[in-house]
Amino acid sequence: MPASQRSIFELSRNELVTWCERHGEKAFRARQIRRWLFPNRATSFEDMLELPKSLREKLTAEFSIFTGEIQQHQVATDRTEKLLLQLPDGNTVECVLMRETDRRTVCISTQVGCAMGCVFCASGMLGLKRNLTRGEILEQILRVDRLLDEDERLTNIVVMGIGEPLQNLPQLLPVLDEVTSDSGLAMSPRRVTVSTVGLPAKIKELAKLNRPFNLAVSLHAATDQLRNELVPVNDNIGVEDILAAADEYFEVTGRRITYEYVLLGGVNDQPAHAHQLADLLADRNAHVNLIPMNDVETLPFHEPAEPETQSFVAILEARGTAATVRKRKGADIDAACGQLRLKQETDSQPEA
Ligand code: SF4
Repeated sequence: MPASQRSIFELSRNELVTWCERHGEKAFRARQIRRWLFPNRATSFEDMLELPKSLREKLTAEFSIFTGEIQQHQVATDRTEKLLLQLPDGNTVECVLMRETDRRTVCISTQVGCAMGCVFCASGMLGLKRNLTRGEILEQILRVDRLLDEDERLTNIVVMGIGEPLQNLPQLLPVLDEVTSDSGLAMSPRRVTVSTVGLPAKIKELAKLNRPFNLAVSLHAATDQLRNELVPVNDNIGVEDILAAADEYFEVTGRRITYEYVLLGGVNDQPAHAHQLADLLADRNAHVNLIPMNDVETLPFHEPAEPETQSFVAILEARGTAATVRKRKGADIDAACGQLRLKQETDSQPEA
């Protein structure tokens, strides 16, 4: 029987119950199916041995567990793993597994491409094609979960891959509900981090939900003048409004905001930039995550020098702003967001 292109992960818990009832099955079957799909990591309906054969056949006829195909699977020496998934319409997305002593973190994408156009980002170079569906977002998490050893569990989710997550909240939020629900992966919402380029109205919308997700705002510059150059959408937004929305998020949820700052050698990594950032975040309960730029062949930006990075951290800390430099994961694979997809897409373009 040919595999269906309809992902079972497009169905919510209640929709799966309805599907079971419509096919003459008791509601508790939906619970069993979900147990196989989530904690039991089934890769085919045939694996679901406690279901009657007739039900397994109906599921196989109507759904696939995964609709994407793994087109590339890279494994770095630090055991960071990266998947390039090809979706049924031929588009590709990336997701990454990062291993640390006490954490297993998956980084997921929410869109095919991105409209934000940050000038140092491989993902933004090809523009936005479309939003991912809930099933396509969930598939990334569960594909990565199935890369883990039997006794390993995912502990953290970072929504920091390709795309602007807050532009796809209607598809993302049900996914986060699934993975944090007891009948899903039962992960703590406090271990979910949603990253944004800084869309004030959307940050406020997320705040209203009052879920304890962590919010990471990708700032990259403390002044509008420099930020307009690095993050072009800033032109219509402005740093002040972003910080006001982030403050509101903190007030409602009590979750400390992380400000992401990609250090671009010679561009935004000088002592004056660190002081501007410290001025901006003074009196705020904030944490700065500094990310030294990964060199990308096609982009004119470079890794910052180590002394510059250290002095940036020292200035922030001396001024009372907590800061860390993100550990580089998967340095020997194309681990910077969007690099694998960019390579794939440009390699497959006909030559001019
Ligand atoms: S850094 Fe993020 S928001 Fe900016 S273009 Fe890349 S994916 Fe989009």
